[in-house]
Amino acid sequence: QEHLLRAPFLARFYGTKASLQKEDSTTEGNSFKGHDMLAPFTAGWQSNDLDPLVIEKSEGSYVYDINGKKYLDALAGLWCTSLGGNEPRLVAAATEQLNKLPFYHSFWNRTTKPSLDLAKELLETFTASKMAKAFFTNSGSEANDTQVKLVWYYNNALGRPNKKKFIARAKSYHGSTLITASLSGLPALHQKFDLPAPFVRHTDCPHYWRYHLPGETEEEFSTRLAINLENLILKEGPETIAAFIAEPVMGAGGVIPPPATYFDKIQAVVKKYDILFIADEVICAFGRLGTMYGSDKFNIKPDLVSVAKALSSGYLPIGAVMVSPEVSDVIDSQSSKLGSFSHGFTYSGHPVACAVAIETLKIYKERNILDQVNRIAPKFQGGVKAFSDSPIIGEIRGTGLILGTEFVDNKSPNDPFPPEWGVGAYFGAQCEKEGMLVRVAGDNIMMSPPFIMSPEEVDELISKYGKALKATEERVK
Ligand code: PLP
Repeated sequence: QEHLLRAPFLARFYGTKASLQKEDSTTEGNSFKGHDMLAPFTAGWQSNDLDPLVIEKSEGSYVYDINGKKYLDALAGLWCTSLGGNEPRLVAAATEQLNKLPFYHSFWNRTTKPSLDLAKELLETFTASKMAKAFFTNSGSEANDTQVKLVWYYNNALGRPNKKKFIARAKSYHGSTLITASLSGLPALHQKFDLPAPFVRHTDCPHYWRYHLPGETEEEFSTRLAINLENLILKEGPETIAAFIAEPVMGAGGVIPPPATYFDKIQAVVKKYDILFIADEVICAFGRLGTMYGSDKFNIKPDLVSVAKALSSGYLPIGAVMVSPEVSDVIDSQSSKLGSFSHGFTYSGHPVACAVAIETLKIYKERNILDQVNRIAPKFQGGVKAFSDSPIIGEIRGTGLILGTEFVDNKSPNDPFPPEWGVGAYFGAQCEKEGMLVRVAGDNIMMSPPFIMSPEEVDELISKYGKALKATEERVK
């Protein structure tokens, strides 16, 4: 009530965005309102009544829309274009492979050299625990979907047909297929899709700032979450719980790094009840956190790992599952018994996608991508976190090249702005106006810029963030 009185003029995002589009002359000329695509994660009113932002070209850390406007791509596409928009070596790798062998599959012990080479290269990048085999998919969703099938296959092989439930966390994002949307702990992904599937349980979101009790330290918070996890396992029956899946740093849920000691305590519980640990590294892998994997950063020793996105710098669709020797051995013997491991996609190990991924991994190594990330990350983190005192910001959080901002009133997680104010959306629209693209989810803003950003580009990002923040503060005042 009070909020509404304080700012009675605040339009909903719909109005905000429409009026900004009107102000912005660059949208003139090309209109795609009411286009023919059923667009992912887009509301009907958005695609019918507003012009989509049509991106036409990319260059380094920038993308250009169809009207020629330039944007700093602060989300690296969708957390993926780690090497930026026009890495010629990736284009050359794709072209060369297209000319030689644009497609062959990997079924029935037929395969291609790029897929074999990539499996070897990829396994070598993961050192947090031992991984024996890699299975290729086309996306992160297919990777996590595959994880569920592998784990069920594994437990059936071990004569544990009841050990099938998965525990994921509230606010996690694991993909958009039936099974991975079920694993995801975001209610919007379940609503009206008849999800989640019955084998999924969700445990606490490890967001200290939002959920800690008065006086509770980060360590105590982590202990409480581990106890809650253990209680959930005991309530369900440990013999029914197959696996626990987690992103090292939660991405789409708002960029939530784990609180101190969290993964140590969670892993101890999972291990105690013979539950497999799946690291969903789809966002964190290959340097985003300043380590090769999120597992390296938080001392996670997973049994299974999912990757995608930066595996090919987003240039071609490819994901992968890495499997520990223990799980892989069981799959080998079970499939020998059955006559086949009957799981796979036409494009599992697509040679062109694999060729691009091999080149991507080569570039990471040659250019010491971790050093590059760690060189710019402090500037990025420090520069944006310097805005933490803003009266409309509750928390700015992140590590490496991933950062989330949460807008709240009174600096309190318990005082959200009324959703109809569209504070986050207004900030996002201001960024767009300034020439920068971020991800908006309610009053959460997320950024995960390309690894190749120059210090000057980081300065530009901070300056644009600051301008958008100032405009948003003025609007909310
Ligand atoms: N897992 C995580 C952590 C993700 O962030 C995503 C996508 O953003 C996925 C899985 C799903 O990947 P994809 O969109 O490639 O299916």
